[in-house]
Amino acid sequence: EAKSSGRGQIRYFNNAMRKKLKRQADIENDLQTGIKNQEFELYYQPIFSLNNPKVISFEALVRWHHPRNGLVSPMEFIPVAEQTGQIMELDLHLLRLAAKQLYAWQCEGMLTRVTVNVSSRHFASLDFVKYIHQLYEDYDLKMGSLSLEITESGLIENLSLATKIIKGLEPMGVKLYLDDFGTGYSALGYLHQLPIHVIKIDKSFVDQLTNRANPLVDAILSLARSLDLDVVAEGIENPKQWALLKRKGCQFGQGYLVSKPLPKEEAYRFYQEYEHQEEAHL
Ligand code: C2E
Ligand code: MG
Ligand code: MG
Ligand code: MG
Repeated sequence: EAKSSGRGQIRYFNNAMRKKLKRQADIENDLQTGIKNQEFELYYQPIFSLNNPKVISFEALVRWHHPRNGLVSPMEFIPVAEQTGQIMELDLHLLRLAAKQLYAWQCEGMLTRVTVNVSSRHFASLDFVKYIHQLYEDYDLKMGSLSLEITESGLIENLSLATKIIKGLEPMGVKLYLDDFGTGYSALGYLHQLPIHVIKIDKSFVDQLTNRANPLVDAILSLARSLDLDVVAEGIENPKQWALLKRKGCQFGQGYLVSKPLPKEEAYRFYQEYEHQEEAHL
């Protein structure tokens, strides 16, 4: 009895495992053609100043319209692309998409900023600086209109080279956001050793801010103040979280309370309808 149900579990496990591996193989095989066939689309989620409140920029978040599997979440394919190294090509493709979009918006009089998520693997060669510089030239980007987000989960091995790269980006006004702050192992070491400009408090901390303050959020905010870094809180879903963060001195935020990530046309409409701030801020 126990034995057969055990076997059933193994069969169930094997099936689930096989499905997962199949999906990973699909992702790996289809990513290249996906780039070529323009299957990737960027959505844009507004980032707000919590005081005024005004839209100050957008975070670009990728969506994959897979021909057979439908809409695939970045939570699924980004880790696979990281594993296989395909993330390098994908990120460069998406950076170009974001730059094109910024140019199109600039032409329509929408002067905004976009942050793009990139793998920390790019911080291992000065070619990355050249690539970003080229984007600024090709799309006539306003200083500071394109910035970058990295998570600390991807370990940067050569910190002095990474520092050189970040410094090389600064003349264009490119800021470096440290994403999912507080969830990795080395956050404090990174803050100390890399010239980061902004930290993003991870949603998991904001989630805990429902009825009372959270000492960890206080600690992150006071750390940011003493290092002179701006802070964006991610995943704000209710007004209480907004009010608490604002009261604690967090300047910026994003989350479903204000808006989900939007397709470019909707992001444009959103920007027109809401108060926004055009001066470089973040
Ligand atoms: P992230 O950069 O930390 O992005 C925040 C994620 O939280 C996004 O999920 C966003 O849609 C979601 N989010 C924002 N506000 C709320 C909220 O109020 N409630 C909830 N429940 N969720 C919220 P998404 O778009 O699925 O992206 C997941 C992760 O995939 C991102 O986390 C980022 O690490 C990665 N990613 C997304 N786009 C790209 C990309 O273009 N390139 C790279 N390398 N990674 C990307
Ligand atoms: Mg991000
Ligand atoms: Mg984040
Ligand atoms: Mg996060």
